[in-house]
Amino acid sequence: MFDVVIVGGSFAGLSAALQLARASRSVLIMDDGHPRNRMSPAAHGVPGWDGVPPAEILIRFRADLAGYPTVSFLNDRTDDISGAVDAFEVTTQSGECIRARRIILTHGVRDILPDLPGVGDAWGLTVLHCPYCHGYEVKGRPLAVLATGPMAAHQAHMLRADWSEDVTVLVNGVDGLDQQALSAARIRVDARTFLRLESGDGIRVTFQDGPAADFAAIFIAPKVDLAGSPAVRLGVGMSDGPMGPYVRTGPMQQTDIPGVFAAGDLATPMWNVNFAVGDGARAGAGCHQSLLFPDFIPALEKEAA
Ligand SMILES: Cc1cc2nc3c(=O)[nH]c(=O)nc-3n(C[C@H](O)[C@H](O)[C@H](O)COP(=O)(O)OP(=O)(O)OC[C@H]3O[C@@H](n4cnc5c(N)ncnc54)[C@H](O)[C@@H]3O)c2cc1C
Repeated sequence: MFDVVIVGGSFAGLSAALQLARASRSVLIMDDGHPRNRMSPAAHGVPGWDGVPPAEILIRFRADLAGYPTVSFLNDRTDDISGAVDAFEVTTQSGECIRARRIILTHGVRDILPDLPGVGDAWGLTVLHCPYCHGYEVKGRPLAVLATGPMAAHQAHMLRADWSEDVTVLVNGVDGLDQQALSAARIRVDARTFLRLESGDGIRVTFQDGPAADFAAIFIAPKVDLAGSPAVRLGVGMSDGPMGPYVRTGPMQQTDIPGVFAAGDLATPMWNVNFAVGDGARAGAGCHQSLLFPDFIPALEKEAA
């Protein structure tokens, strides 16, 4: 019986584990090795680590934990958690059943990329999700936003204001973009039918008609999914965010299931390594408090269906 099983051993999960480790609590971190930004050559905007490859940051996080004897790692995944507070059962993909008094969900989200040729290969390299994370490296150069929904206009206005005077929205058949407001902000709108993307130094977009267009990078706001994830299978309460569902949490990252905490990308509509680390630490501390004082951090009220 572990005090805590943490499902997802990346930025949020490892940060949660450190708080629990420092209270000498027994913690098992399960992870199957697919952090969300793994294809990015560098993570930006993370104090002390700005421009460092994400894998390198995670190696350091794990190295910190290696000094604590109550922390164990398991390279495996779980899709099946059952039981209740003080008696959860986590079944691993390899068939092991692990028991725990508390669960922290930090397994992140799955990006749903537009199904267009070339987008997947360029994801994290020249197809980017966030101006704060990767905009500075391409500032002042021609940029595009590939629309996946109305948030595309929001991204385009941000980029035009503070990153580049040369911004194009690739409409990609998406309705609901305020084209008048885009034009008023001197943002180009290109509604041609998209054929494919080719990545090199920058990125070239080929359309069904007319000349190709070259950009330093294309931004998209990806939809995210939690379908089939441990959070959904456990039945924790969700909220709807602009890009997809996320787990509803309270001030100490508690969910609406007693003994279950959640942090990182799966528990917020805005994603960033710093937020994941901060919320992870809060989940670790909250979870520890709940082990000591079971009524101190009550679970959230269930919302009516
Ligand atoms: C392309 C890209 C680039 C980015 N660049 C930046 C950047 O430069 N700066 C920045 O601040 N943010 C960046 N982000 C956002 C950042 O990646 C996330 O905010 C951060 O990774 C969230 O951390 P997390 O711990 O919540 O989830 P993740 O890092 O996604 O980790 C979740 C972990 O859980 C594991 N897992 C999933 N399911 C299971 C399961 N069922 N069982 C066991 N383990 C499981 C996964 O393998 C993974 O290791 C970027 C995002 C993307 C998509």
